[in-house]
Amino acid sequence: MKNIVLFGPPGAGKGTQAEILKEKYQLKHISTGDVFRFNIKNKTQLGLLAKSYMDKGDLVPDNVTIDMLEAEVEKNPEAKGFIFDGFPRTNAQAKALDELMDSKDSQINAMVALEVDDEVLVERLLKRGKTSGRADDADESIIRNRITEYYNKTAILKDYYSAQNKYFGVDGVGSIEDITERLSAVINEL
Ligand code: AMP
Repeated sequence: MKNIVLFGPPGAGKGTQAEILKEKYQLKHISTGDVFRFNIKNKTQLGLLAKSYMDKGDLVPDNVTIDMLEAEVEKNPEAKGFIFDGFPRTNAQAKALDELMDSKDSQINAMVALEVDDEVLVERLLKRGKTSGRADDADESIIRNRITEYYNKTAILKDYYSAQNKYFGVDGVGSIEDITERLSAVINEL
């Protein structure tokens, strides 16, 4: 069983690559952002709450996000493994994920990170905003706040997984195919 955290700042290409890798390695893809957006669309209580944070580019509180992630994992008892996309984003989330995996006699095998410069991220997200319909992609100040949240709360997870020898950085600039190759080179060794 391979459980992979696909990591990187907003706009690094996690969602695009996760869609390809889930087919290639037959893993269940869980994107916390996608689950929140699904809940917003369906006007659930969780969606309403998440929206108030997401619209500003702030992180949704840990307790809410962790409960949601655990429920998503529990919905997939048959999964051969998971690609976590956009989770964990804080130390508390990383600890909760380790405990969850432990409780299933499993573990996170690797954090694979897409590395992309900030200005490239802003450019990509503004471009995506023209077609994605995502409010948080449409406004440069919200995009920059998401990147700030990443550096303030999320980037430290590199240390968390490095301490377990599980961090692998990959150049996230290039064609989709080239980047898939780089990620696959890491995953094939796990
Ligand atoms: P994403 O689709 O990964 O870019 O996430 C979009 C937004 O959803 C983020 O800016 C956060 O507001 C929220 N979000 C997604 N995943 C998490 C998470 N693991 N922790 C907190 N907030 C999250």
